[in-house]
Amino acid sequence: MKTLPRFTIGMGDRFAHQGEAQLSAVQSAVERGVPLHPVWNKSNREHTLVGTKPADLRAEADAAVRALNWTAPYFVDADHINLHTVDGFIASSDFFTLDVADYSGKPASPESMEAFFKKRSGLVGTHRLPLLDAPLEITRADLERTAGKFLWAMQEAGRIYRRIAAAKPADSFAVELSVDETDTPQTPGELLIILAMIADEGIPVQTIAPKFTGRFNKGVDYVGDIGAFEREFDADLAVLAHAVREFGLPETLKISVHSGSDKFSLYPIIRRLVERHRAGLHLKTAGTTWLEEVAGLAEAGGDGLDIAKDIYAAALPQAEELIKPYAPVVDIEIPKLPSIETVRSWTAREFVEAVNHDASCAKYDPQFRQFIHVSFKVAAGMGQRYTDALKANRGIIGRRVRDNLLKKHIEPLFC
Ligand SMILES: [Zn+2]
Repeated sequence: MKTLPRFTIGMGDRFAHQGEAQLSAVQSAVERGVPLHPVWNKSNREHTLVGTKPADLRAEADAAVRALNWTAPYFVDADHINLHTVDGFIASSDFFTLDVADYSGKPASPESMEAFFKKRSGLVGTHRLPLLDAPLEITRADLERTAGKFLWAMQEAGRIYRRIAAAKPADSFAVELSVDETDTPQTPGELLIILAMIADEGIPVQTIAPKFTGRFNKGVDYVGDIGAFEREFDADLAVLAHAVREFGLPETLKISVHSGSDKFSLYPIIRRLVERHRAGLHLKTAGTTWLEEVAGLAEAGGDGLDIAKDIYAAALPQAEELIKPYAPVVDIEIPKLPSIETVRSWTAREFVEAVNHDASCAKYDPQFRQFIHVSFKVAAGMGQRYTDALKANRGIIGRRVRDNLLKKHIEPLFC
């Protein structure tokens, strides 16, 4: 296992032009004494929609690291991969997010179910975990239900892990397991049971991404019961520490928050609880850099603003198709989106105010922002016209990308 540092931030970069701007945000935190490390993440879905390859992300990360003389560990994350997609990522990644959510609900063999119940019957009962006021209760029914839903999926995770381990030295990569793209949130009790399954599969998991209570929509703030999230996150951290002690999982095991970016109202809570538990944290963002590219092009005015408007004008007629791959993680009502004519009439400032995530600004339009978030395929279709504009407006965009990561994400969570 390649050891993960305590604090890491996952950054997505759909068009592979912002690696240096992203790294400079992390570097600023380090200069202030925060031991933060960058992870560049890209899923197969994003690669497919943009037309990039895993090797491109590796090249981008390495180039940024060279340009800024970064000497500490950094990682390239094969995000949300499964047995069908993992092969293309093996050579260029050193961080693998095994996503087996699609296999949840698929029953494991009766023999392996029995073996699991026998081995882990000790999970049934009352667990008094350090730092938690309320004890964690797990019933036999909980154990059976969770095994029914996840045992096969964790066996599948074991198959993916062994596939990678057969092709790469064990100390050359880190493993994350994600179950965030499932239908219902996992309770802390379920998380403990899942961690037992992962330990039984021999996966040296260092980060786990549960599905939390509430909505984690792309690029916008949390929607849900903040108090319920706080209790759950607190218990999840206690569960992870317990799983390390009880199941012999790596001491570096930590939560990965697949934030969908911009969960600003949760950051103070996450920060406080991570400190309270002396835990680690991986914050995975994605798409927030792409949104800064669009905002930066708009801010630049002239051709840049035209391109931002053209993206919207081309995206709106295919809204349904663009939203489809992201349907579970966006709340967009197409009729509520501004008309193409309206957006064409906007000044640079009006466009920026609509897309920029500033809840205190009356012009901020979360519908518009989420829709731009899912519209990157249109920019990919523009090819060089889009990437030339990124180059031409490198200064404005780079500043936005850096400031966004540093001021809105890194400072509230880590500094
Ligand atoms: Zn995720």
